[in-house]
Amino acid sequence: MAAIRLTDVCKEYDGSGALAVDGVDLEIADGEFMVLVGPSGCGKSTLLRMIAGLEDVTFGTIEIGERDVTDEEPRDRDVAMVFQNYALYPHLSVRENIGFGLKLRKMAKAEMNERVERVARSLGLTEYLDRKPAQLSGGQRQRVAMGRAMVRQPAAYLMDEPLSNLDAKLRVAMRAELARLHEQLGVTTVYVTHDQVEAMTLGSRVAVLRGGVLQQCDTPETLFERPANAFVAGFIGSPA
Ligand code: ADP
Ligand code: MG
Repeated sequence: MAAIRLTDVCKEYDGSGALAVDGVDLEIADGEFMVLVGPSGCGKSTLLRMIAGLEDVTFGTIEIGERDVTDEEPRDRDVAMVFQNYALYPHLSVRENIGFGLKLRKMAKAEMNERVERVARSLGLTEYLDRKPAQLSGGQRQRVAMGRAMVRQPAAYLMDEPLSNLDAKLRVAMRAELARLHEQLGVTTVYVTHDQVEAMTLGSRVAVLRGGVLQQCDTPETLFERPANAFVAGFIGSPA
């Protein structure tokens, strides 16, 4: 079953006269970790933001869980977005930061605490629940940002370069953490990165974009062994 289906999705920013995303067809299976990769400006964030409903679709359709959501508001789409600049609330504790979205939805306190604690456990944050963001390392803060998305138990996580602000060592550690979490939770994930090493290590499949056009979508092994064209070969083969 497709968790997310994109059909001929196009985006033209007002008055730009060019397509930032150009006719993308893509089916993301339930539980899949799909990586969108490509050089800066190729349309990755635009595509992800259209899936989230943060950007209008110029042409084409987006379905989530068999429902056409093309014209739905972000809050009705049952997806959770993790951004590159994970702004946590500095005056709130880790517990309150993770639970914020649930509080907005007026969830009962006992259920909220239980969910927050379960998510904190899976992220290794249990002992930090009462700390403020300023008392955490960069990696811990990024985990809190993930926790905020995870606590909602959405149909899919949409992540836009969530590790790009971390130093190289932490980035590698967080990559392993993400892979472990995905294995454990199995939630459909669409993950954007410009880093082909990250793409090839994390993706169950990897979709390569160039100039808004999907070049190839395959498993890392197939991309590596049978690239569809010279661009894919060069991009996947180029050093980090
Ligand atoms: P990526 O995330 O792959 O770096 P983006 O989706 O941010 O690429 O951008 C794709 C193209 O759309 C680029 O040419 C970019 O300049 C353009 N673009 C992105 N956001 C806007 C915007 N808000 N208004 C106009 N053009 C934009
Ligand atoms: Mg981007």
